[in-house]
Amino acid sequence: QHGRKSHHHYTEYTNEFRADILARHKLLQGLNCAIDEQQLVLALQPKVRLSDESVVGFEALLRWKLPSGEVVSPGAFIPIAEMSGLINKVDNHVFHLTLAALEQLEQQQIHVPVSFNVTVSDLENDSFVDEILQFALSASPLAKLLEIEITESQAMEDYQRIKPILKQLMSCGVGVNIDDFGTGYSSLKHIAELGATHLKIDQTFVAAMMQNEAGNDVVDIIIRLGHRFNFTVVAEGVETIAQRERLQQLGCQVGQGYLFAKPMELPQLLAWLTDKNLISLKS
Ligand code: C2E
Ligand code: MG
Ligand code: MG
Ligand code: MG
Repeated sequence: QHGRKSHHHYTEYTNEFRADILARHKLLQGLNCAIDEQQLVLALQPKVRLSDESVVGFEALLRWKLPSGEVVSPGAFIPIAEMSGLINKVDNHVFHLTLAALEQLEQQQIHVPVSFNVTVSDLENDSFVDEILQFALSASPLAKLLEIEITESQAMEDYQRIKPILKQLMSCGVGVNIDDFGTGYSSLKHIAELGATHLKIDQTFVAAMMQNEAGNDVVDIIIRLGHRFNFTVVAEGVETIAQRERLQQLGCQVGQGYLFAKPMELPQLLAWLTDKNLISLKS
């Protein structure tokens, strides 16, 4: 009786497991086609100076638009792409979409940096890094406007291998954002010597900041740490005026979040910039 029951559970588990593998496989196939069929588009989210909400940059965030019109968010496919290696193809595509976005912004006289997200395996791919370096060292007026974002946990996981690559990118003028900071396990030694350009406070800390003294103090300490080591500190997920004011009190200069703007595709972004009087769209 007992043995039969566990056998039954085992079968159920296997079927579920198989269904899961199939679902992932389908998703990866779909994603692969999505690149070729131009279903991958960028949404750009402004980063603003907290004191006056002036735009200091944009982050490129990937969106997968299915032919049905449904939009798949990166949380649903990036982790699976990361496990398969397809992420490198995806991120290479995102790099080119980012360059195109930089050009389109430049045509509207918007001359600010745009960051795109990379995974650690992208940085271990020499030809991809070379492509980025080539652009950064080119004569293009946009060459100095490219930034990357890498999560703290990924940058620190294989720090000794990643450090020289990040240093090389920075020495060629590519800004480096340490993303989701506070959720990984950085050693202070690494943070001190890395000298990356931007530190992005993870949005969970921004949310916890208003909840109690400890939450406040964590953000306070991250901001001090960042400034002490010459990072520009960027707060992610700023949703309320109270958060914005607290961040300013704590000395944080740049924010990103729904309070200022959601990630927008280029046409919508250009309309938003027009509203802000940053560009005048000619009809
Ligand atoms: P991330 O780089 O930390 O990006 C910030 C995420 O927070 C974005 O979600 C953004 O839409 C969201 N966000 C911005 N402001 C607010 C706010 O005020 N409140 C809340 N609740 N959320 C806010 P998104 O676009 O879904 O991206 C999720 C993650 O997927 C990104 O986190 C990034 O790690 C990854 N990702 C996105 N695009 C790419 C890509 O092209 N390549 C790679 N490798 N990863 C990507
Ligand atoms: Mg990011
Ligand atoms: Mg982040
Ligand atoms: Mg994140």
